[in-house]
Amino acid sequence: MEVLKKYKTQLLFHLFLNFAFALFITLASYYHLPLYSFTDYSFYFFHFLALQFSIFGFLYFLSLNKYLFRFLFPVIFMLFSCIAYWVYFQDIAISHSIIQVSLETKADIILDLISIPFILYLLSSITIIFFILKYYNKLKANQLKSPLTILAVIALFSYSFVENYRFGTFNRRLPYNVITSSREYFGQNNLIVKPINQTIKANTDSLNVIFILGESVRADHLQLNGYHRKTTPLLAKRKNIISFPNAYTPLTYTAISVPQILTNATLTDDYSQPKYSLIDVLNHAKIQTNWIGNQTPEKSYEIFIEQSGYQKIIDPLHSELSFQKDYDDKMLPVFKTIFKPNQSQFTTLHMMGSHWWYETRYPDVFRKFQPVIKSKHIPSNTKEEMINSYDNTILYLDFFIDQVIEHAEKQNSNTLIIYLADHGEILGEDNLWLHAQSGKASENPAMLIWYSESFKEKYPETISKLKLKQNEKTDLDFFFHSILDVYKIEGIEYNKKKVIF
Ligand SMILES: [Zn+2]
Repeated sequence: MEVLKKYKTQLLFHLFLNFAFALFITLASYYHLPLYSFTDYSFYFFHFLALQFSIFGFLYFLSLNKYLFRFLFPVIFMLFSCIAYWVYFQDIAISHSIIQVSLETKADIILDLISIPFILYLLSSITIIFFILKYYNKLKANQLKSPLTILAVIALFSYSFVENYRFGTFNRRLPYNVITSSREYFGQNNLIVKPINQTIKANTDSLNVIFILGESVRADHLQLNGYHRKTTPLLAKRKNIISFPNAYTPLTYTAISVPQILTNATLTDDYSQPKYSLIDVLNHAKIQTNWIGNQTPEKSYEIFIEQSGYQKIIDPLHSELSFQKDYDDKMLPVFKTIFKPNQSQFTTLHMMGSHWWYETRYPDVFRKFQPVIKSKHIPSNTKEEMINSYDNTILYLDFFIDQVIEHAEKQNSNTLIIYLADHGEILGEDNLWLHAQSGKASENPAMLIWYSESFKEKYPETISKLKLKQNEKTDLDFFFHSILDVYKIEGIEYNKKKVIF
């Protein structure tokens, strides 16, 4: 009791400080979570408490130095509450591309975000800072002997313990995600692109390749591959479509899978040697390259977007972690304007696809399989709900690919559409869920090829070869070599054995 009395002011100060920090900053990361039951709420409540407890550790040690605290705390609090405002009100997820948007030239996007509610939020946070500093001045100097010091040490340990146990538990939430994303933004990329100094030529007449880069779609949930549900009804009615049910990649998350697909890297590459970028090679061969993406680019593959002759990122402020992300069909109008039937083009459409949280990925009309998931907390959903929601995303994918085909078909040009998911998804096998972990389902992505009538007339032997290879195991490193082959690229060596055409 004596101790409590002695440190009462300090204790109350830290309670107030952490309450304000939680309200203005930390809680924003939890605000949009779709939660349903008491268990969900309790789970995330404890999650939030644990996160705030770790922040207490940092704030406590900062508070030990009067000068540092008076100078740094207002800066930190202001900066993080600005960011938290956007997270609260627009569900913006903090990623390295947000850091990029804020630090590079896109001032208009930032200016768009400034509004009266934003200014009011800032004014309240300035008021809170004022009260915190006023309260802080009442504290006695040298509080190191306080029992709170031990608690703060435990708090710091809890942070590193949790992050070592499962990376991202805290680091993907405010305020830590600002630091994680900045580190990613300024960090080094594994991939070193091999420069092209020689002359490169494409020996095809105009050929349009549309590369639909999918997300988290496992092959065996496609009706086209014999799945018992009608998940691809539109594609099932189409001719000139070939499905490859046995595609394989051990790289089960976007950041490592995409660089492998778009370079001459093998599936087991360590990236110690520079690699050719497919986009770079095609540019040198005077093929028009376009990138339309609904995913906010990650550091590991943003180079391909930068290299593309035309680039458009849809909804750049919302990542896969936002719950108000635009649907993939927002890419279609852009695609239709840049698709030029009698030109040699290579157009990438990078989908949000079937990335968790599934219910954010498709419009209501595609909610055919029911009941669907209600909670972000996976254990609160049944296996049936998880699979229903997932299958609805496939139904939407069916619509999306069908729309792309329909547009290309109308133009009656020499066109090839390749759909390839970056990896699959685990749906309850061995009690595991989602991706970024090995398993048969996460390593077997969906893969489809559609060809136009005019492509069929020009290259009948290519179609026969594709049909012959359809059921073979197809490692995802076929892509680079096959694209070079289909454009009949000269001036760069590629592996003919990996060509599927
Ligand atoms: Zn992915």
